[in-house]
Amino acid sequence: MCGIFGYVGEKRDAAEAVREGLKRLDYRGYDSWGVCVAKEGEIFLQKQVGIIGTDRPNLPETTIGIGHTRWATHGKVNEVNAHPHYATDRSFVLAQNGIAENADAIKIQLEKNGYTFVSETDTEVIVRLIEKKLKKAKSLEEAVRLAFKDLTGRNTIIILTADGSVIAARNGSPLVLGMDKKGGEIYFSSDVFSFAPHVEKVLVLENGEMAVCRDGAVQVSIIATNKKIKPIFEINKLRDVSTSKEPYAHYMMKEILEAPMVIRQVVAEEDKKILELARAIKKARAVYCIGSGTAGAAAAQTAYYLRLYASVRAEALVGAEATEYKNLIGKGDLLIAPSQSGETADVLEVLEHAKARKASIASFVNMPGSMMTRLSDYKFMANAGPEICVMSTKIFVSQIAWGYLVAKAVQGKLAEGKKNLRALARAVETYLADEKALGDIKKLAAVLAKKEHLFLLGKGQNLQIMKEAMVKIIEGSYIHAHAIPAGDLKHYAITLMQDGVAVMTAVSEDSVKADVLNAVHQVKARGAEVFGIGSESSSHFSSHLRVPDTGETSAIMNIIPFQLLAYAMATSLGHNVDKPRNIAKSVTVK
Ligand code: GLU
Repeated sequence: MCGIFGYVGEKRDAAEAVREGLKRLDYRGYDSWGVCVAKEGEIFLQKQVGIIGTDRPNLPETTIGIGHTRWATHGKVNEVNAHPHYATDRSFVLAQNGIAENADAIKIQLEKNGYTFVSETDTEVIVRLIEKKLKKAKSLEEAVRLAFKDLTGRNTIIILTADGSVIAARNGSPLVLGMDKKGGEIYFSSDVFSFAPHVEKVLVLENGEMAVCRDGAVQVSIIATNKKIKPIFEINKLRDVSTSKEPYAHYMMKEILEAPMVIRQVVAEEDKKILELARAIKKARAVYCIGSGTAGAAAAQTAYYLRLYASVRAEALVGAEATEYKNLIGKGDLLIAPSQSGETADVLEVLEHAKARKASIASFVNMPGSMMTRLSDYKFMANAGPEICVMSTKIFVSQIAWGYLVAKAVQGKLAEGKKNLRALARAVETYLADEKALGDIKKLAAVLAKKEHLFLLGKGQNLQIMKEAMVKIIEGSYIHAHAIPAGDLKHYAITLMQDGVAVMTAVSEDSVKADVLNAVHQVKARGAEVFGIGSESSSHFSSHLRVPDTGETSAIMNIIPFQLLAYAMATSLGHNVDKPRNIAKSVTVK
């Protein structure tokens, strides 16, 4: 996770430019932050625990600086562990996004060599390792290259030197460069959105590449071989993309309301491209849909749609739990990966392995220039605009709408799929404009926010939807929620059903409706209160939130009230809706 940012320019005050960039990256981590600037051969540093604010850092005015917003992996959240970290002689500072997996072993060795450490981070181990390499290396770049060869894990770093240059090296976590029209202003960042309004051109650094900005010129080279490569900057298409949440109080609300737009973006995808993927799915030896967290639920929903509509034996994998599949995945297999960032470390690890074993990859990513897109044979973009709230809402809608459409294409009914999604977009729009519906959700949220435990029953097309609803409730309200397959209830969780227990369920007008209602009966008979969501009410519901029946896309419709409910619960509890405690959006570490 973590966000890294750098600015080398002529016009802007570096401390403020870096602060502004980090503010836009704080969805990646907000434990603590640090900004450094270089002036007259000296590096000035400010670090602080907490999320970066709107005040200019208290640093000298100059035009070169770097910064970091942290999601701690190694060492407590405190000022000492916050990045950037100084070299012993203060000739450079370094910030890292990732984990140096062999840091402990390297540290023992470095300590034997007399190096000392002030922080508990793996980052400082990288700093000292570079210092050690510097003793024999001809330049700092060479020392960085040598140090990188010794490191394991995914590590992307940025360095600011006292004499005014910036060095960035990528291995794993993302790194992009931006440049204004004349090339006088250079930006480094973990994502394009953070500097998009300021630059004309962008360059996505590939894994294993290093960029050095010295005296206003950018040089790119391959870390392993030191071979220079011509930096090719592309036109920045995101320049005018808004990153404001106005007029809403939170990004989460703004992004939930963008659901109709993201569904329409899915519909706008070229038929030719979808049909090409549909052919690959039909031909594949095995199809695996893979994701983590919310994208994991989207991957599972995609697998469900492929089984249901296209009779494809598609299997869902959770990014971090796919180890045993590594021996199975190989030539002829196809992996389908929906991802907001396209940088999720545990998913990337499986995809890289699959690629090396000649499997094909299809991805559906929102962030431009990601690793996942680069690895893919079939590249799809969500084009949903930035999703800034850490809790994913519109992107989940977009991912499952895409999964549905792909399944319809394999079924040979792409046009019908697009028609159904268009109708869904209209239905979601009408629903989101319905003041009464929104008021009912708020009332229910006030009741549920007082509970200690919530149970969610799901089946068929709504199983993953209830899982995702569980994720949203846990993330936003910190209340324990538990999604249960409705049919499995009587095998274990029924023991927990008693007076006052709150159960939620989404019911669609489909072939498993009767089974879900059976489960509802069973919990109600034991005293539980059931809150139902669907187009029809049931006499067994204590309360019912009505949503329109959208047929095959009903499950996609059903997640919307749960997202609104999670929002209303989190706000009623006074939580930081856009940045729930402990989690970050782009999980670029394992
Ligand atoms: N390992 C570093 C730390 O704990 C960076 C963490 C990250 O990139 O999330 O400070």
